[in-house]
Amino acid sequence: MKIFIATKNKHKLIELERILKPMGFDVLSEIDFNGNFPDVEENGETFAENALIKAKNGLINTGLISVADDSGLCVDYLGGKPGIYTARYAGVPTDDNKNIDKLLSELKGVEKSKRTAKFVSAIACVFPDGRQFTVTGECNGYIAEKRLGENGFGYDPVFISEKGCFATISPEDKDSVSHRGKATKKFRDEIKKYL
Ligand code: IMP
Repeated sequence: MKIFIATKNKHKLIELERILKPMGFDVLSEIDFNGNFPDVEENGETFAENALIKAKNGLINTGLISVADDSGLCVDYLGGKPGIYTARYAGVPTDDNKNIDKLLSELKGVEKSKRTAKFVSAIACVFPDGRQFTVTGECNGYIAEKRLGENGFGYDPVFISEKGCFATISPEDKDSVSHRGKATKKFRDEIKKYL
């Protein structure tokens, strides 16, 4: 069965494919449209609302069961920011390096015990017959004082989970504790009820 993943982010795609392909899904994404997939404004107020907006845009443009992840980082010392603005934290277009620089400068001098944070992932799934569901996953950790690794994407170099920095651990270890890993496992259980 074909399923559409509404993302242009190849790292997210890889993490979602790791779950969906073994379930027998034939995965298609915005990347297959070679830059011609219509963007949608992410004007929701929560991760779940934005995930649904992106999944619905996928369904409208492909007619396929569509899945989207909306995710971000909530830092306690910053009152939960950047939250749903994580991708645009240092402005548009999104720039991972600038985002990390801004985060590190806002936390400059803040002691380790106050650098706690969580990653959140909401995954929405919409069906051509109008049914829909959303699942979420969270990963607690803290923000490093400097970049600690080169793997992964986004804020991985400065996020320390219970398994270590996301940019230094294996994909399997990241999946076992990450926000997206937890959300995709819930997703796998949930979608079975709809097929
Ligand atoms: P979205 O693509 O609009 O959902 O934005 C997600 C934001 O959170 C981007 O800035 C990503 O880099 C960041 N992000 C989400 N998940 C992860 C992750 O697993 N590691 C590092 N950064 C992430």
